[in-house]
Order: sequence, then C-alpha cells, then structure tokens
Amino acid sequence: MPFLSLDSEHEHELCIMIDRYLSLEGAMGAELQQSLTPADAVALLKDGVRRSTSGDASQRSRAALLEDAAGGQYPYAAVLSCIDSRAPVEHIFDAASGDLFVARVAGNVASPDLIASLEYATKYAGSKAILVLGHTRCGAVKGAWAGLEDGHLTGLLGRIQPAVAATKAEVGEEDSLSNLDRCSTVNVKETMAALRNESAILAGLEAEGKIAIVGGVYDVATGEVAWVD
Ligand SMILES: [Zn+2]
Repeated sequence: MPFLSLDSEHEHELCIMIDRYLSLEGAMGAELQQSLTPADAVALLKDGVRRSTSGDASQRSRAALLEDAAGGQYPYAAVLSCIDSRAPVEHIFDAASGDLFVARVAGNVASPDLIASLEYATKYAGSKAILVLGHTRCGAVKGAWAGLEDGHLTGLLGRIQPAVAATKAEVGEEDSLSNLDRCSTVNVKETMAALRNESAILAGLEAEGKIAIVGGVYDVATGEVAWVD
C-alpha cells in the first residue's frame, strides 16, 4: 500500500495484531506470543488500558481460558507492580488468564527475587515486555518519604530512598499529594534503571531488541496510566 506513510503502515500492522489478540477465544498461545515484537507487547498493554477505561473490556470465556491453561502459558508481558489493592493489574490492562506475569511488591521495587522473576518471565517464558508500574497515592512511597523504619519494611523502603532523595531535591520536603505522586514517577524510573543495572540478563535482552522495558504510573482515581519515558 504505497499511499500509506510508514507510520500509518505501522499503525495498520498494530491494528491487525491487536485484532488477532482480541479474537482469541482461549488463552495466548506460543505462536501469537512468539510473533509479537516488544513494541507489539507495549501496544497491547496500552490498548488494554483503553478498553478498560472505555467500558470496552473483552469478554473471554472462562471455560475456554481454563481449558487452555493446562497446556502451558505464553504471556505477552510481565508487570512489576505495587501490592496496592486499588491497582489490580489484570483489570487495569483488561488482561485474561495467561496474558501477563505479575510480580507485586510494595513500592514496585527491584529486589533480587523480583528481578529473578522477571528474568524467568522474559528469558525462559518468552514475554516481550517488562512494565514497571507505579501508582498515585502509594503508601510505600509515603512511608519512604517519612523515613519509616520498622521490621522488614526498613530494608524494603530503603530501596525507594534514592527516588525520595531525588524528588525532595527537586520539589522540597513537603509531603503533599503532588510531591508524593511525583516521587512515584521517579521511583518507576529508578526501578527501571535498577533492572538494567542489576540484571545482566534483562539488560542483554533489551540490548538485543528481544524485550522492551517500559514504565508507567497508574492513577487510582481515573484508571488511566501515564507512561514514563
Ligand atoms: Zn503502592
């Protein structure tokens, strides 16, 4: 189609890919997963948010998903998110059983077992993208901002301190909602950097173009995701 610009041609291909996904009756299969590029996987996540926020959620049959479940899993992406009850990952991305690996820990930090889980999801199980998903009004960020030290929380919140220090240097010490939400965004960027710096496997897969590592902040009030560069 020579009349199409490269961009709209690319968009056309993405539409075909998303239609293929939406026409699934059961779970993602190996063929579809392996045909996706990292950019396709990110586009699927973004279209999932669109469907979820527009009342256009897909209605895949529970019976068909269960029937496929025993045959293996071929998730298109892995999400590292906070444990917050207001940020239900599958719901945010209109995802079905078998679509996403979801690694959850307070403050969506890159601790060693979480990194290992993402290494498994991508290198061994074929997921094409890693999304680090923070959210607004995050209690872990608020605790780190206040310098909370208690039990195992001390070590966990310590992983958020680089984001707290960078954000306070930028906006000051006041624990306003906007400052804390700004810190959530900075924390997503810090976690993305930690995945690249602390995992030779993830950095290598990204450098080879086999996966994308992207970030986002989920707004618990609107259901939207602000994508982070
Ligand atoms: Zn949180």
